[in-house]
Amino acid sequence: MSSAYEIIDHKYDVIVVGAGGAGLRATFGMAISGLKTACITKVFPTRSHTVAAQGGISAALGNMAEDHWEWHMYDTVKGADWLGDQDAIEYMCREAVPAVVELEHYGVPFSRTDDGRIYQRPFGGHMRNFGEAPVQRACAAADRTGHAILHTLYQQSLRHDAEFYVEYIALDLIMGEDGTCEGVVAWNMDDGTLHVFRANMVVMATGGSGRSYFSCTSAHTCTGDGNAMVARAGLPLQDQEFVQFHPTGIYGSGCLITEGARGEGGYLTNSQGERFMERYAPTAKDLASRDVVSRSMTVEIREGRGIGDDGDHIHLHLEHLGPETLNQRLPGITESARIFAGVDATKEPIPVLPTVHYNMGGIPTNYRTEVLRPTVDDPNAVAPGLMAIGECASASVHGANRLGTNSLLDLVVFGRAAAIRARELVNPGDSLRPFRQGCADAALDRLDRLRHAKGGSKVSEIRLDMQRIMQNNAAVFRTSEVLTEGCTKIDAVWQQMSDLSVTDRSMIWNSDLLEALELENLMISASTTLHSAEARHESRGAHAHEDYPDRDDENWMKHTLAWIDEKGKVDLNYRPVHDYTLTDEVEYIEPRARVY
Ligand SMILES: Cc1cc2nc3c(=O)[nH]c(=O)nc-3n(C[C@H](O)[C@H](O)[C@H](O)COP(=O)(O)OP(=O)(O)OC[C@H]3O[C@@H](n4cnc5c(N)ncnc54)[C@H](O)[C@@H]3O)c2cc1C
Repeated sequence: MSSAYEIIDHKYDVIVVGAGGAGLRATFGMAISGLKTACITKVFPTRSHTVAAQGGISAALGNMAEDHWEWHMYDTVKGADWLGDQDAIEYMCREAVPAVVELEHYGVPFSRTDDGRIYQRPFGGHMRNFGEAPVQRACAAADRTGHAILHTLYQQSLRHDAEFYVEYIALDLIMGEDGTCEGVVAWNMDDGTLHVFRANMVVMATGGSGRSYFSCTSAHTCTGDGNAMVARAGLPLQDQEFVQFHPTGIYGSGCLITEGARGEGGYLTNSQGERFMERYAPTAKDLASRDVVSRSMTVEIREGRGIGDDGDHIHLHLEHLGPETLNQRLPGITESARIFAGVDATKEPIPVLPTVHYNMGGIPTNYRTEVLRPTVDDPNAVAPGLMAIGECASASVHGANRLGTNSLLDLVVFGRAAAIRARELVNPGDSLRPFRQGCADAALDRLDRLRHAKGGSKVSEIRLDMQRIMQNNAAVFRTSEVLTEGCTKIDAVWQQMSDLSVTDRSMIWNSDLLEALELENLMISASTTLHSAEARHESRGAHAHEDYPDRDDENWMKHTLAWIDEKGKVDLNYRPVHDYTLTDEVEYIEPRARVY
């Protein structure tokens, strides 16, 4: 079949797949270091989901009050519920301060204090002096921080010699027989041509997979393509069971209201008008970690104290902040509240509900961003030629629960780390492995199979089945019964995939085909999430298992690794969480009870 397609061959030193914050920071870092760099992206760079980030990027600048990167590191380890690798966390928090200064110098228009410094606001789980009281650590450009950062990074990319392939859909990796990644196969939607991009290093920067759920804050493009490509290459995905629910998605639409709204003084109430977070988190209150706030809201609703006729949501109050603060600090979400909830936030509370927001799990890497291919002898062994950064990766700095503003930080710190490591491993102009006839066959067969899929089920129908299962069976609270049912149901949807129907056979702007490809990718995320969750018999971070309500460090201080085969069968194994830091300057933070 695949010989029917003509292939256009490209050669680069490095290829970056994805042009969000992570992909762009890596792309121009590599170009600056002299590597011939291509960036492939399915949407125009400044339309990547990073553009939607609102609240801020964390760094212990100490502009508002005393702060230290060691406090930031402690908060991140605690927020991650001790599932994070502390060597990587040390690296990220240590690099945070220079990374934000670098962004400022690149031209990010941060909000300012009266004396002209970068404005910082409080955020969930950011505390002073190892958990004492909230601290202002989130560097913000009003409530459009991601927009400011993404546009600045794109401008920087244009200054350097990187080549962009826009609206190219990466289909699959090309893997050598020895397991080395040799390149990527991609489809150009605009003219229907097919491409093989060969390089000595491929960097996945494809973002999250929030769209496997029915209600999420992420863009329609967040379909876990990179994770699926890596899984199809026979490599494992890590900690997929840890999916973050953001406490404040707008009820009904899922559109995000940033945690920065609570950072600026907003608070939650139940149907009795009670500020219930004071009961669940006496110190941090509304600024506890996201998993803690989302669970507290869910308990309030379950116990009959939800708002509305169905008692199924919670109120977020901002009206006491006054129009001036809202206008200056939170203009975007004031607009979102008006459009998506029909609410004037200066006068009345916003109806909100915990909504799927972020994937802590993904492609496992070390702190240098090299993709792990753990073996029995060496849990830290790497897959040559392959890196991963940003939300698709799991370094693992976010462990079982990410702190707000640590993702934008992760993008720039590890985007830069990928550029540094790639230049250590690849020299400009190093010869490539020879082009192998048929190296793209598997990818093209998949494309061809879907293009001619003549079954009885529409992509949208199967996608809805998948999204409903994820929403119901992998929610804020989980039980063995619900998770086992979820595994059975998702396995059945996998079978149903063979009955897909794609009616448009064209190769140009065929969104039917694109959505079928994305659905196959989403199914890999959905299935590995459910099976990994079903197997983890403890509660940690975002994984709240009601039959096993406690964290179990003795048996479960380990990362889940999930392999999935072409029949949808998931195999699980585990690798130890790193019990060491990167340098001797800080000590490993021993696990302790996690209270806010
Ligand atoms: C509404 C919202 C608000 C947020 N606010 C904050 C915040 O204030 N602070 C914070 O720290 N975090 C925030 N986050 C999280 C953070 O924004 C994301 O985790 C982060 O932006 C992801 O960046 P990324 O570079 O990994 O991927 P993305 O920005 O999602 O970009 C993915 C890129 O991959 C490309 N791609 C994907 N698949 C393919 C394919 N098959 N072929 C070619 N290209 C492909 C896309 O074209 C895109 O360029 C927020 C998230 C959301 C959804």
